[in-house]
Amino acid sequence: MERFRTDGAVLKTSPTGEADLVVFILTRERGLIRAFARGARSPRSRLHAGAVPFGYSDMDLTEKNGVYYLNAAGLKETFYDLRLSLPRLTLAQYFCEVLLKTATEGSSDPDVLRLFLNALFLLSADKKPMHLIKSVFELRYAALSGFMPALVGCDVCGAFETPRMHFDAAGGRLLCERCAGESNAQTVPLAVISAMRHIVFSEFEGVFSFSLEPSLLPVLGRLTSGYLSVCSGMQFRLLRLFYESLE
Ligand SMILES: [Zn+2]
Repeated sequence: MERFRTDGAVLKTSPTGEADLVVFILTRERGLIRAFARGARSPRSRLHAGAVPFGYSDMDLTEKNGVYYLNAAGLKETFYDLRLSLPRLTLAQYFCEVLLKTATEGSSDPDVLRLFLNALFLLSADKKPMHLIKSVFELRYAALSGFMPALVGCDVCGAFETPRMHFDAAGGRLLCERCAGESNAQTVPLAVISAMRHIVFSEFEGVFSFSLEPSLLPVLGRLTSGYLSVCSGMQFRLLRLFYESLE
């Protein structure tokens, strides 16, 4: 048995037993874990406020034979304003779906939690375009999860840029005009390539700090969603709902 503290954000809860919850938590040190929160559905429970989706807390947990128990959660942030806009809420739920389906317990990069929290903060504050936040989350998360695309230059000849560049999502690589040939790689505007390079290579602090012409944000968005889907081998239901919520 081990008792420990960690920062964590709740991705999902589901009821179990009479008044308990199973809580899916993205922790800083241990990646995605599933913990029992005894009595958390009772309004009198000390866990009642902390065991809610998007709740970010300083958590007190116990691990016993591979099963986690949430003892206490000192709530730091609720991201309440996400609930004020359906597209923003749906996008935040999509981030949760991605993490629930692809994150694992164990040696997760602590920047995954940071990326998620920063994305929620910017979404709830409505400070950046939603498509930009979405693309940063998708592409940086893919890179943090071991799917770093090769974006320095053409993967065949090394050319940094030619008037047209192509992105091969299946291979996670760039190809120049000459080397793309008959491949299925998609032609990508150079400004979008620059944005992708920024998302993958910038220091974490500045990862959301770039701008792109509004008309190109959806182009970047389709590329990053497609790449994450290819890397993970998964389709995400909430991604479709996010696009529907914009109509
Ligand atoms: Zn080339």
